[in-house]
Amino acid sequence: MSYRLHIIFKTLPFPSNVLHSQCISLSPYFTPRVWFCSGGFRDRMEMEKSCISSEVVVGDSELLEKKINAIRSAGQWKLQVIADFDATLTKYWVNGCRGQSSHGLLQQGNPEYDLKRQELFEYYHPLEFSPTISIEEKTKLMEEWWGKTHGLLIEGGLTYDSIEKSVANSSIAFREGVIELFEFLEGKDIPILIFSAGLADIIEEVLRQKLHKSFKNVKIVSNRMVFDDNGHLLSFKGKTIHSLNKNEHALDMAAPLHDRLGDIDQPTDDNASVKMRTNVLLLGDHIGDLRMSDGLNYETRISVGFLNDNIENSLDSYREAFDIVYLNDAPMTGVVKLVSQLCLNGADCHTLTS
Ligand SMILES: [Mg+2]
Repeated sequence: MSYRLHIIFKTLPFPSNVLHSQCISLSPYFTPRVWFCSGGFRDRMEMEKSCISSEVVVGDSELLEKKINAIRSAGQWKLQVIADFDATLTKYWVNGCRGQSSHGLLQQGNPEYDLKRQELFEYYHPLEFSPTISIEEKTKLMEEWWGKTHGLLIEGGLTYDSIEKSVANSSIAFREGVIELFEFLEGKDIPILIFSAGLADIIEEVLRQKLHKSFKNVKIVSNRMVFDDNGHLLSFKGKTIHSLNKNEHALDMAAPLHDRLGDIDQPTDDNASVKMRTNVLLLGDHIGDLRMSDGLNYETRISVGFLNDNIENSLDSYREAFDIVYLNDAPMTGVVKLVSQLCLNGADCHTLTS
């Protein structure tokens, strides 16, 4: 039994001066429909089709407009983008099924150890979301989980070759518009920090295989592996980044960036210069992703949430938490429009309106 509820959602119009200036396109924010869907394969396919219309919710459009103006006035050199990876840059549904995560796609070529990692998942994953365990205790449990998993990857003889094959055979896919977003930001020298509690080496392989290019402005802040000359995993660099410490402090914990992207010969912004960029566009699919900007003394932050599933129960909390909420596994097109608006300077605005 499936159902679809069609609601006319009350959105707030931008003030008239914005409409008249033409500096802000209305299209990313004003699709006044919210679809609630549940059900099986056919519904999911329909949901994917409905993404073309990119349903979006803005809780407080006046506040959003103030933030857009503040970031635009400060200039693009003050802006950075902080993004979660799984189900934020990547799609939630792929061909009607739940898309794989960067962590979940890994088959280390050793079924016994794949099973051991799965058993760890089944034990620790419920603890991660348990409402009765304190954050301190959960943090210890997550350190334990990640430590054991990394140990199994080493013990089970993971090779880089297995990572390449796992990515090639996976169902992971980027949202439409991610390449355009990265290209636009690269052209403006705006850094993108991708925060993940997964594995940097897998994310980089996904970028390589699925986008077929690398970007000098993209940094992966995640757990990084060390391989020997034969491509066998030896160890991990830096401190472990897990689901509960995936925040801007992770920048200081993370191993050096871009070790494996040999085609990047230009030094990217170091951590200090990233911290000078005090305006933030944050992209995430969990409310906890908002913590990715913890530790950064930001002036203005625009948060974009992708609410991919369980919309009926989660919409209120997402609308409270994020400035903009995209529904139903939406493409990245609206975010591309948003960043182009954030990078318009006064001269651009004058040109557009003259
Ligand atoms: Mg995610």
